[in-house]
Amino acid sequence: MKNLTIHPLLKEIADIFIRQGKQVFLVGGAVRDMLRGEAAQDWDLATDALPEEVIPMFSRVIPTGIKHGTVTVRYKERSLEVTTFRTESNYQDGRRPDKVDYAATIEADLSRRDFTMNAIALSLPRGDKVDPFDGTGDIRRRIIRCVGNPVERFGEDGLRPLRAVRFASQLGFEIEDATLAAINPTLHITEKVSVERIRDEIDRILNSSKPSRAFRLMESTGLLKLLLPELACCREVEQKGFHYFDVLDHSLVACDFAAQEEAPLTVRLAALFHDIGKAETRALDASGVWTFYQHERVSAELSRNILLRFRYPHETIDTVVHLIKEHMFHYEEIWSDAAVRRFVIRVGEEHLSDLYRLRRADAYATSGIPLPRDFLAPLISRIDGVLSYSRAFSIKDLRIDGKDLMEIGVKPGPYMGIILKELLETVVDDPELNTKDKLLEIAGNLNNRYV
Ligand code: ATP
Ligand code: MG
Repeated sequence: MKNLTIHPLLKEIADIFIRQGKQVFLVGGAVRDMLRGEAAQDWDLATDALPEEVIPMFSRVIPTGIKHGTVTVRYKERSLEVTTFRTESNYQDGRRPDKVDYAATIEADLSRRDFTMNAIALSLPRGDKVDPFDGTGDIRRRIIRCVGNPVERFGEDGLRPLRAVRFASQLGFEIEDATLAAINPTLHITEKVSVERIRDEIDRILNSSKPSRAFRLMESTGLLKLLLPELACCREVEQKGFHYFDVLDHSLVACDFAAQEEAPLTVRLAALFHDIGKAETRALDASGVWTFYQHERVSAELSRNILLRFRYPHETIDTVVHLIKEHMFHYEEIWSDAAVRRFVIRVGEEHLSDLYRLRRADAYATSGIPLPRDFLAPLISRIDGVLSYSRAFSIKDLRIDGKDLMEIGVKPGPYMGIILKELLETVVDDPELNTKDKLLEIAGNLNNRYV
């Protein structure tokens, strides 16, 4: 394992603590990542100084979690979380500790942390290691292991099992047997964790390079059935035909593909949920083949419910639901230019590249075999052609507006809206008509017809 070099800024900060006669340690993910030979992300510090003692040490301190003993220090463009040594006690409901007791030593502080790999401290400024649970050994062995008794630790905070599977997919580590075995008996504790904390872990899983690792562990431990029953019940929903996987494996393979392509979170969510409606829409046709009519609609609605349940931002929900609803398009060369334009209008130009990503993930996950070439290329080049030729995709792209219509006698109100929509339809069919003169002529005719 590499020698650990302490960043010069950390040494500067440590000196400020030392001058006040206080101890300070680098802890948490930063130490774990340094020991893995990766660059440390955020710096978390642990100290015997109380928050009210830390605040006057720096000019910019934000009391972000003062009741948990945490303040955020801004120092030369860096943000550091500084937490007073603590133990956690009185977990009443498995959600969060009710009160925080400060601890006297770094060892006591480390013993309340979740996993051995997260319970290592580096004493600053020198970087001497404090590692009472052999986290270093577990990192070398690539193992996630609870500090202490796993059933007790999961009983204190039901988010920890989800953190374990999240770290497994982020780091590619295995979960140690007793730790893994403690997940199922403590599901009733996980059930009480707030949806926001769970959502943050799901996002981290999805943003890892191989989300399926975590979802498979969630399935085998019962976490998936508890948190995402709509996905869990896709197991053994066989598809046959072109498909090689059942619906759950298909979804996981699609999600991994989206992750490998570094797709945004919305596409990863869409890949994970795009087929969950198949479980309930499945039917055998007359020739004995499985069909899933309208599954994209059912998948979209089920996904909306899941995302609402986890309180995702509305913009995220709308995008994911929209992508899922549109994922079954079937382009053929015989599409007219107007049909291509209608497709662009329905999907929205801003969603096209994400829809392509979702569709590539879906196609890959049919067989798990890489596609020899981009099967979407013909559609993409058609769309590029249409976009370069005409950009009239919404009413605001028309060469006339409501004011022009009023001048030829159209009254403002809903009826004007109807005329504008008709004009857009006309222009989508034939972009040549998008000139002021031609549109006024058509609008005049429409107006006469209705008045
Ligand atoms: P990352 O920031 O990369 O997700 P991390 O290990 O830094 O990983 P944080 O959530 O930032 O995770 O927490 C910092 C440290 O606090 C952890 O390393 C761990 O020691 C401790 N910790 C965080 N959450 C818990 C928890 N639920 N139970 C016990 N200890 C925890
Ligand atoms: Mg962290």
